[in-house]
Formats: sequence, structure tokens, C-alpha cells
Amino acid sequence: MSELKRVQGGLLGLACGDALGAPLEGRTPAAIARRYPDPAALVADPPGEVLRYTDDTEMALGVAEALRARGREARAEDYARRYVANLNVDRGYGRGALMALAALDQGMPPAEAARCYFPDGSFGNGAAMRVAPVGLAFAGDPEALELHVARSSAPTHAHAHAVEGARLIAHAVAYALTHGPFEPDAFRAFVASRVREPAFGARLDDVFAGRGLATGVAALESVPTALALAARYAESYAQGVGHAVLLGGDCDTIAAMAGAILGAAHGLDAIPPAWRGRLERGPRGHGYLLQAAEHLVGANA
Ligand SMILES: [Mg+2]
Repeated sequence: MSELKRVQGGLLGLACGDALGAPLEGRTPAAIARRYPDPAALVADPPGEVLRYTDDTEMALGVAEALRARGREARAEDYARRYVANLNVDRGYGRGALMALAALDQGMPPAEAARCYFPDGSFGNGAAMRVAPVGLAFAGDPEALELHVARSSAPTHAHAHAVEGARLIAHAVAYALTHGPFEPDAFRAFVASRVREPAFGARLDDVFAGRGLATGVAALESVPTALALAARYAESYAQGVGHAVLLGGDCDTIAAMAGAILGAAHGLDAIPPAWRGRLERGPRGHGYLLQAAEHLVGANA
């Protein structure tokens, strides 16, 4: 499979997970199970004629655009500019993100803007949900990957947990891109080898052992859950993303993160046509996402 197909799978995989989860965000698994008992039901009858993505994909496009424009020279200010320019308040941003983006828009430096709502920085999953393009662009260069995780996170997320979540998702996406369909145990070992924050190591031990898939917006909850689903359903994009959606809670973001990993592993054609075919069209929809992926291949030059 070509690298392009995998990069497209990563970006479209993120967007489809986000858009599928969005209508079910905040519900309980039991409520969702009444209409969707399993991932096959989500393939047979997606929630909506048009699947509209949310802040996760909109911000991931901002990351991809900063990389397209500036390549490895992209700085925190370049990422910030894209996030602000792309902001569409109908896409379900959290309150802290909106405050940070407003501050950035008024010229506040990224490091300050990221602390204007939460003085210790947000420990939410907002940096992790959008980071996949960094993993796709720098899959062969862990040093550049780390640098651009930090720079792309900085404008909105200063808390160590938020950045750790983004690091782990970016590394997982890079691993998926370079290893293709991966062995669950090898993937779990790789992820564990990248952990820096002890709290994440403990959480990953739990979820990798099948204990407690948390669905809150905290990076420490939702990131390990997405990684655990990517491992458990390593053989199938639709199963992994479907199970992420069925969890409810912050399921658009969990499905976006698992979708980026499994999409990069299996490529564009592994995304069910019933999902990709309904992904929103329009100037920043399906076609634009494919194009953004094309520009990511080679953004690392
Ligand atoms: Mg969202």
C-alpha cells in the first residue's frame, strides 16, 4: 500500500471517527446500544445523512495547514494562527479552547494564552485529538515529531498530561504508518516504551489489561482508552472506531484518535464506504481532507 493511502487513511480515519461520534457524544453506552448494539449497526445505519466533523478535525486541519505552509519550521505561533483562522464556533469547541483562541486572536503569546482559563493549563484531550498530522508527517523522525507535538500543543495546552496525551497519540500514529497492520502486543509495548508521565504508565497498564475504559475529556482518561481500542481491534478500522463510538462520553474524540491510528495502519480503503461516503463535502470537507493528506506526504522535507 502506498504511503499516500495510509496518510489519507490517517486523516480521513480521524474525521470519520469524529463525525460518527459527534451525534452520540455524552450519551451512556446503554443508551447508544439500543440503536447501535455493535459496530456493524453503525456501518449499516450511520447517525445522519451527512456526517459532520467537529473541533477535533477542524484543529487537525489547522495542524496540517501549518505543516504544509512551514514544514519543520512551523512554530507555535504558526499553529496558533491556523487554529484562530479556522475557528468555527458551531464545531463544538470546549470553553477553555475558546478562551485560549480568543486570547491568541488578541495577540497574546501561545504560552500565556494556554494558561488564561486554566492557570495550570488544560489537562484535556484537545492537543491529542488534533495531533495526528504530526505523527503522519514525522513518522521517520522521532525528534521532529516530539518538537512538533510540543509546538502544536503549546497555544492551548500547557498541562503535562495534555502534552503527554498528544505525544502518545502522535507516536502511535507514526508507528501505525510505518508498521502497517500491527500486532496488538507489539503496539502495546511500543506505546508503553514512549511513556514519560508515570500516571499514563499506570493507566495504560490498566486499559491494556482490559480494565476500565474511561471516556472523560481528561487526556489521562480518553487517550489511554483510544490506544487500548487501537490495540484490541488492531485488525479492523471499523471495529476499533465503532467500539470507540459505542462507549459514549467523549466518544467523538476517542473515535477520532483511534481512527487516526487505525486509518494510518490500514489505509484509506479500509474506512467503510458508508462512513466516508457520508462525510461532509463542501470546501473544507472530504475532498479537502484528501488534499491535506497529500500535502502532508513530504511536509517533513
Ligand atoms: Mg469534538
